[in-house]
Amino acid sequence: MKGKVYLMGAGPGDPDLLTVKAMRVLRASDVVLHDDLVAAEILELIPAWTQVLNVGRRCGQAGMSQEKIHSLLISAAREGHQVVRLKGGDPLLFGRVGEEMEALSRAGIDFEVIPGVTSAMGAAAAARIPLTDRRFASKLVFVSNHAAGNTPAAWDDVIAKDITYVVYMPGINYGEIAAKLSAGGLDGRTPCLIVANATQGEQQIRRTTLRELALEPRVPAPMLLIVGEVARPLPPFEDPAKPSPRATSEPHEEILHLTDARVKA
Ligand code: SAH
Repeated sequence: MKGKVYLMGAGPGDPDLLTVKAMRVLRASDVVLHDDLVAAEILELIPAWTQVLNVGRRCGQAGMSQEKIHSLLISAAREGHQVVRLKGGDPLLFGRVGEEMEALSRAGIDFEVIPGVTSAMGAAAAARIPLTDRRFASKLVFVSNHAAGNTPAAWDDVIAKDITYVVYMPGINYGEIAAKLSAGGLDGRTPCLIVANATQGEQQIRRTTLRELALEPRVPAPMLLIVGEVARPLPPFEDPAKPSPRATSEPHEEILHLTDARVKA
């Protein structure tokens, strides 16, 4: 029997955000190698007979080497197992999956990518942010502020007013990020959100501006930043059960003054 590796996204934490396909494959897996970010409630869905191994690293702590992960994936698949490489969010974003795909391909191992809800989308949904609201943003940038041993992220080529930024792995120096964005020309009043543990029980959402970002208290990881005009607060919620001060008993009628709109010849 030939084995196969599934490079699977676990989503941002809420088990209800797993895809149906991820759930089906996870339930039939023989071996699961997961990152540290994968939520405990999702790990609980793995069958009792499945071999489960945490291969993640967190906060700079040395985890398993990337080469060791590759060799475990390859040997388990060669033994004929259905192997799941489970990653937080979406597996194709900020997760070294490129190296894993190359190693599997080189070893002639069959593999498939199962997408997940990336944490940016989980956070935006939780905070109700219309990431590309047509009035404010026409571009969406997912940027990592963590170099992870590579060249540090360049910012100067991605700063513009019509961009919404989602900063993954912002680290603890929010001031540094704010300074880079301000130096690129973003207004100090630009809304910013800090979203920690998006879609999970301990979720925290803090609202601030670029100017005040550095002053924000640090929140527990994992967390990300959403920066851009789209992150401004919604208008106050109007409860239809409560009459608003302006409400009258007469149905409201919108009058269009055609004379005002007419183009003067
Ligand atoms: N592949 C993942 C990202 C891995 S990088 C994805 O698609 O989401 C790890 C970073 O993702 C964290 O440092 C944090 O910035 C972000 N992140 C992951 N899960 C998160 C969550 N539940 N809430 C907020 N940020 C999260």
